[in-house]
Amino acid sequence: MKKLTLWVLMFCCAGLFLQCRDPKQHPLDTEQTNSTESPENPERSGETAPDVQDGGDKPKPAEDIPSDWQELTENEGYQVDIRYATKNNFTKQKIYDCGRCFLRPEAAQKLDNIRQELEEEYGYGIKLFDCFRPRPYQQKLWDIVPDPDYVTPPQKGSMHSRGLAVDLTLTDQDGRELDMGTPFDFFGKEAHHAYTDLPDQVLKNRALLKNVMEKYGFRAITTEWWHYSLNISYPLDNWLWPCEQ
Ligand SMILES: [Zn+2]
Repeated sequence: MKKLTLWVLMFCCAGLFLQCRDPKQHPLDTEQTNSTESPENPERSGETAPDVQDGGDKPKPAEDIPSDWQELTENEGYQVDIRYATKNNFTKQKIYDCGRCFLRPEAAQKLDNIRQELEEEYGYGIKLFDCFRPRPYQQKLWDIVPDPDYVTPPQKGSMHSRGLAVDLTLTDQDGRELDMGTPFDFFGKEAHHAYTDLPDQVLKNRALLKNVMEKYGFRAITTEWWHYSLNISYPLDNWLWPCEQ
């Protein structure tokens, strides 16, 4: 009987400990909190980015778009609202010189399939908040918010800096954002996938986005309903897209 009491006590303590460990912060795409994700994901493997294509300390915008990248634009049917190219983001500062969405070809192709399926089945569209995030821009974010709870350290790198992550939401037949319960880059538990104290329609909207993204191989992280990434191998990259004058 004593042994049983001891086990019950140990079980309770372990439960309390785990509860206390619940991440208090909500990192910006650090992709560290989802224990169900594959350990091979380079983002969380502690890799220190030896594979960075070094473009020097202050790389200039590229004259030509590198061949292994694809741009997603309104011509392809997307709404493009790259928030870090505006002050309408959590830093309240303009991080990117201009807003363009680039992804690796595999990610771009899959997203195009998703966009078409959403359009055909529901008349819905996709609004893009962030795509490729060159490392100099990741550095800029880090310089403003040097807190690993919020921003992935540039030397570690984000899946965005590999061109494999996308921040997005769904839009209705009139191009208006569906209600996802919180805005983009809301760092609170209400933005977590596990948070269900939300109107049914919000839960349905999130589930629709998650299901279609996962159907095509993208994976969610626990803390951000808007962030999805493709777990294939590409190096972190530095190149900056040019801005039309
Ligand atoms: Zn993201």
